[in-house]
Amino acid sequence: MLLHQCHLLTEKYYGKQVFLRGIIEFSNFCSQSCCYCGLRSENTSIPRYRLSIEEIIETVGRIYKDGIRSVVLQSGEDLFYTTSVIADLCSEIIRCYPDLAITLSIGERESPAYRKLRKAGASRFLMKHEIVNPILYRSYHPKQELITRLGAQQSIRKAGFILGSGFLIGLPGQTITDIYNEFLFLKQNRFDMWGIGLFIPADNTPLENTVIGNPSLVYRSMICSRIYEPQTMIPITTAYHSTVGDDATILALRDVANVYMINYTPDSVKHLYKIYNHKKSLSLEKTCDLIQKAGKKPTFTKGEPYRVNHQKYATSYWNTRTDQCR
Ligand code: SF4
Repeated sequence: MLLHQCHLLTEKYYGKQVFLRGIIEFSNFCSQSCCYCGLRSENTSIPRYRLSIEEIIETVGRIYKDGIRSVVLQSGEDLFYTTSVIADLCSEIIRCYPDLAITLSIGERESPAYRKLRKAGASRFLMKHEIVNPILYRSYHPKQELITRLGAQQSIRKAGFILGSGFLIGLPGQTITDIYNEFLFLKQNRFDMWGIGLFIPADNTPLENTVIGNPSLVYRSMICSRIYEPQTMIPITTAYHSTVGDDATILALRDVANVYMINYTPDSVKHLYKIYNHKKSLSLEKTCDLIQKAGKKPTFTKGEPYRVNHQKYATSYWNTRTDQCR
């Protein structure tokens, strides 16, 4: 019954479309220390890499040539790429490919940086907080403060970005009440994308010997998300797909998810973006095949969230949000 309702809501707002994004993981350097992540600065066992600006633009070209009009630039928190460098990169991408949407997932910066990046042509930002319980947040992020993270989300929104967030399921100490509170937080702040990740231990981290989170809880949380906030974008996360395999992923695509990110990071370094163990990566062809098996349509357009496409609502929404942020 719940699943049927979820399916109807997904189709009501997004029809049969599953939006494709091309993601480029351009640097695996990170100054942070998240205890669950293989890229944490203390992990000296993985070789680090940075793509040059030319390599990034060339990879964007591959995504564009494949017909995808939405690119995600992701990295650890790596200030080697200054805000000016990222802004120039975004301007250059938009100059070459004006009909492309750029999403940034580069971690925390100073507030003015977001305005500069927005001005340069990036229009979407992904900043997950991962866990909204302040005590757990503190214990898993020794160098970060939850309040700073949430403040950064507000600054990003004020700068005019479409903003996605999300949380992890399965971190030790997390309770069902914590997960419930994640829903409340995401709903209250009306994020445009809710990414529900699955905790998978990464080698050479403090949590390397911990058990993996429960994928069925991720699936059920995706369903609850669609029912609770029907207009939001819900991606299939790589961690979920890597764990449950194709058949369960097809079910999630059929009823609830409407975004899939395809990894275009060059093969020479792709395996080094090791945020957790056994990360999977699918080709465009294989992804389209899965989506079609789910009875859905791979969609190559920018793929805006529903409310952005319905301007009347979006305008009042953004005005309200900006007023609240003042
Ligand atoms: S989760 Fe992100 S910020 Fe944290 S260590 Fe990994 S790459 Fe860095």
